[in-house]
Amino acid sequence: MAIADNLQALERRIAAAARRAGREPSAVRLVAVSKTQPAAVVAEAARAGQRLFGENYVQEFTAKAGAVGEPVEWHFIGHLQSNKVKYLAGLVTMIHSVDRLSLAEEIDRQWGRLGTACDILIQVNVAGEATKSGTSAAALLELVRAVAALPHLRVRGLMTMPPFFDDPEGARPYFRELQRLAEVVAAAAIPGVTMAELSMGMSGDFEAAIEEGATLVRIGTAVFGARG
Ligand SMILES: *Cc1c(COP(=O)(O)O)cnc(C)c1O
Repeated sequence: MAIADNLQALERRIAAAARRAGREPSAVRLVAVSKTQPAAVVAEAARAGQRLFGENYVQEFTAKAGAVGEPVEWHFIGHLQSNKVKYLAGLVTMIHSVDRLSLAEEIDRQWGRLGTACDILIQVNVAGEATKSGTSAAALLELVRAVAALPHLRVRGLMTMPPFFDDPEGARPYFRELQRLAEVVAAAAIPGVTMAELSMGMSGDFEAAIEEGATLVRIGTAVFGARG
């Protein structure tokens, strides 16, 4: 299917899932995950109306960002090494994958050089999987407090990648838990911190994520087709 058709179908499914949960469809934004897709494919999606893209790999992203030639907005969603942050400064409007203080400090340093602030999400490893990035739920509040003290970033919410299940219902408890953790953080009323965004849900499980409160769904395969 063409990307424009995929985007239209996704828009309908996102809106239907939002309505099922009594939410406004406009409360959910699609982050089109364009890792491994060339700039021309991103440009095609942009011409079809998609403006927000998510990337995972710094080198691939920085090469692509300059080549798209359409007005688009980028979020960084992948595991991030501190020594690569400098390449993202000024190019992305949000980083979803902040899971440790040292990384936040480097984001603060690089955005400070620009004299602006970066919106970030704290990635939580809700299931405690050894192979996945993310802070533990137990360490979350302390990390948010430390990150919130940095002047050149703003904590906007939480992100998670649940374990893989064939049945999207398997992921639902992890989405629900991320929503609960966001409520815990919000209740702590840390100055400068908002829990406005929940980044959760991918091609296989975004409807369950929206029903559990997702505001950003990160979808690759269902937009662009299977990655080569
Ligand atoms: C690749 C990726 C996605 C998108 O996965 P699909 O199954 O292709 O929709 C979402 N989030 C992250 C962090 C990813 O790395």
